Amino acid sequence: MQSSRSQMAPLPPVVRVMAASVRIADKAAEIIRGILSAGDLGIVEKTGINDLQTEADRSAQRCIVANLARQFPRLTVIGEEEPDDRPVPDHWLVEDGADPRAERVDCPEQLAGVTEEQIVVWVDPLDGTKEFTQGLLDHVTVLIGIAAGGRPAAGVINQPYFNYERPELPQGRTIFGLAGGAVAGFEPRAPPAGQRIVTTTRSHSTGLVQAALQALQPDQVVPVGGAGHKVLLLLEGRAHAYVFASPGCKKWDTCAPEAILSAVGGRLTDMHGDELRYDAAVQRLNSAGVLATAPGVQHDWYVQRVPQEVRDKLHAVA
Ligand code: AMP
Ligand code: MG
Ligand code: MG
Repeated sequence: MQSSRSQMAPLPPVVRVMAASVRIADKAAEIIRGILSAGDLGIVEKTGINDLQTEADRSAQRCIVANLARQFPRLTVIGEEEPDDRPVPDHWLVEDGADPRAERVDCPEQLAGVTEEQIVVWVDPLDGTKEFTQGLLDHVTVLIGIAAGGRPAAGVINQPYFNYERPELPQGRTIFGLAGGAVAGFEPRAPPAGQRIVTTTRSHSTGLVQAALQALQPDQVVPVGGAGHKVLLLLEGRAHAYVFASPGCKKWDTCAPEAILSAVGGRLTDMHGDELRYDAAVQRLNSAGVLATAPGVQHDWYVQRVPQEVRDKLHAVA
């Protein structure tokens, strides 16, 4: 006889938080689409013209934080935007709990014993804001990264405008994965053999970013917005590496993408090849840049190939 969920052992908190986050990210995506179609983005410059926040960033974060706090009061949640504890509208609350596909994944042993108190959730409510304001809508993602012991344990990436230029196809998608475990919502693909395709920033380039790219002698450079979007290119075989030799990218940009990329055998580190930490007290900035490679690509080759004088300008701060 098949046992119902209530008769089975309780799911590990990492899996429960991931399964809830799939639904919560869907709700955040719905809010983002609603705000854009209403036409008033309410753009605010944070540190300057290339560091923007819109009403969609603010509302999506309120939605995600409120839902996580309601379902998991003992989590630590760190969001990109300023905390805003005003109650959220009832229709922003996710009533149907968790995604059943995400609840069914096998939890790797090293994550099974992690308690709710030990989890730190890194939230980028809208990654790729600059591109969002410019109408490059498929660059936008909602990122919910679930860290334990200072490392990415699980990740959810929602792409609210997936297929937006092909209205005949299903619109929007959510992908998720457990580090060392299963992934879902996309078809992992290897990048083309015999080529070197490198994706990088399109709105935050610097001399250092360009120097690193040049040294890699890529066959093609793909400048696109968003850390989430760039890691999607790696997951789906559209680029071999994501190279950003500059500070600027934060922990909420990399936590969810790193969890999913590592689940399929890719890697995401700083430009020295050192792992990023996601403890609650850690420096938010990925000050030594971001280097990510698709599964099967030699990560160390990229580290070595970037000139020492470029790497020397990027300092990791704990
Ligand atoms: P990009 O690759 O430029 O789309 O950046 C990936 C993520 O890092 C986005 O969330 C950006 O907002 C953030 N980011 C990168 N560089 C900077 C910067 N110089 N100032 C502010 N945010 C940045
Ligand atoms: Mg971001
Ligand atoms: Mg953001």
